[in-house]
Amino acid sequence: MQVSWKTLLEEIRNCTLCPLHEGRTQSVPGEGSPNAEIVFIGEGPGAEEDRLGRPFVGAAGKLLDQVLEALFIRREDVYIANIVKCRPPGNRVPQDEEANACLPYLRAQVALIKPKIIVCLGAIPAKYIIGPEIRITQDRGKWVERKGFLIMPTFHPAALLRDPRKKADLWEDFKQVRDMLARMH
Ligand code: SF4
Repeated sequence: MQVSWKTLLEEIRNCTLCPLHEGRTQSVPGEGSPNAEIVFIGEGPGAEEDRLGRPFVGAAGKLLDQVLEALFIRREDVYIANIVKCRPPGNRVPQDEEANACLPYLRAQVALIKPKIIVCLGAIPAKYIIGPEIRITQDRGKWVERKGFLIMPTFHPAALLRDPRKKADLWEDFKQVRDMLARMH
């Protein structure tokens, strides 16, 4: 039986399934349209996200907003979530046990939204959504089909803050996403 949004969001807010709940200010379930055709998946909340309870609102989020805006994709029309809903200490990479404890929430969100396209922002979401064999520098920009979803791995916007040379690649990947969605209509 499919869980309702209300129940799901309540469960995420009160979740203590993994140790990440101990350090959070609040969990960050995700946000956007429940009818989104594109779901973007990041790694986990950072300091700003933890403070505000919203995904992708820090520096990387601003970059994501800019790319979406440039491609005429409205943030409120997509859905944005993370592999883990609570901030890992010091923004470290989520551990397997944490990701595996949290993934059923993301699966439930995707089941409710039924998007056409899923974009994995960075190596960590690509690992858990597509598989551990994914190498983000080699495989970014290549479509993968899983369970009826078209999935695109690309760089996490935070990677661009560290290495602006990746900007052109991210831009190309996002354009592919926009064009694929247009073709699906
Ligand atoms: Fe629960 Fe996910 Fe937060 Fe862990 S990260 S406490 S599984 S909501």
